[in-house]
Amino acid sequence: MSYNRNLIDISDTLSAWYLANKRELPWRDISDPYLIWISEIILQQTRVNQGMSYYLRFIERFPTVADLACSEEDEVLKYWQGLGYYSRARNLHKAARQVMTDFEGVFPIEHADVLKLAGIGDYTAAAICSFAYDQPFAVVDGNVYRVLSRLFGIETPIDSGIGKKEFASLAQELISRSHPGIHNQSIMEFGALQCVPVSPDCLSCPLQPNCRAYELNSVDKLPIKSKKTKVSNRFFNYFFIELGGQTYLQKRVGKDVWQNLFEFPLVEADQLLTVEELMETDDFKKLFSRIGEVGIVKISNPMKHVLSHRVIYAQFVTVKISDENAILSERIKTPISEIDQFAVSRLMELFLEDSVY
Ligand code: SF4
Repeated sequence: MSYNRNLIDISDTLSAWYLANKRELPWRDISDPYLIWISEIILQQTRVNQGMSYYLRFIERFPTVADLACSEEDEVLKYWQGLGYYSRARNLHKAARQVMTDFEGVFPIEHADVLKLAGIGDYTAAAICSFAYDQPFAVVDGNVYRVLSRLFGIETPIDSGIGKKEFASLAQELISRSHPGIHNQSIMEFGALQCVPVSPDCLSCPLQPNCRAYELNSVDKLPIKSKKTKVSNRFFNYFFIELGGQTYLQKRVGKDVWQNLFEFPLVEADQLLTVEELMETDDFKKLFSRIGEVGIVKISNPMKHVLSHRVIYAQFVTVKISDENAILSERIKTPISEIDQFAVSRLMELFLEDSVY
């Protein structure tokens, strides 16, 4: 497709707008690829205001790629706790180790090498290479999709294979050859602040004369998405087990939600169960077999936790026991006052804040 627009003018207008309007952020105007990488991974899943404190805490604890590589994954997850999408934290840790082993501890400069690192795809590689090294690789994130689809009036769904290719190629055509880093930051910031998803202020927009969507009165219809994300429901019945000021945790293993985070023992079922129903399950019987006294103290209100592809419904059953059995002794036994040393999901954290801390 050919776009009869002056691409250089658009890039220059974006850059001028950026220099006048950009937010001052700790990861701006720096060229350290490690810090840029950390900020980009954090910001892919969270708003700037929320991500800022995580970023500052993270780089204070892991100021260099070597510090991150030397740490334990459990600690990295603890610093990530609350951000969600924990596979990104696990990949950060893995990639830091790759930098140490495959690149002699120096963050790679070549775009192809950056792409070899765990968890780094086209977007992150383009961001790192353009921001840190001023290499001309165009970023395409949600903001860029929105700006381009509106500016050029593109109706191809952004989540289709053909749409992804079309937008990537247009973004690459549009990128400034003389200042690609500024250009990429400009278009992302422009999408975040000016060409916002709902009711953008088109009257004050410097690109309004170039904007096809404005001309066709289709700003609110773009960008177009074809698929609806399929969401599945899960039901977690957790046991907060108390034995003399201690409780039991287990690590989530296997490729599933919250991999490698810690949680209370649980029964997963196709619904939240009543106490009577729980006691009938094989998991409950195994967990509490051969224990002298098992007392159900209380059961929390049901909680709903929405993730990108799943909705988790959960409840927490507080159980007091008189002694432990072989099954429980295989779990991690910890003083209740020290649960905060473990990386847990936001759902667990909400229960702990409400009922335990
Ligand atoms: S005129 Fe409106 S829709 Fe077009 S680029 Fe500007 S803010 Fe976005």
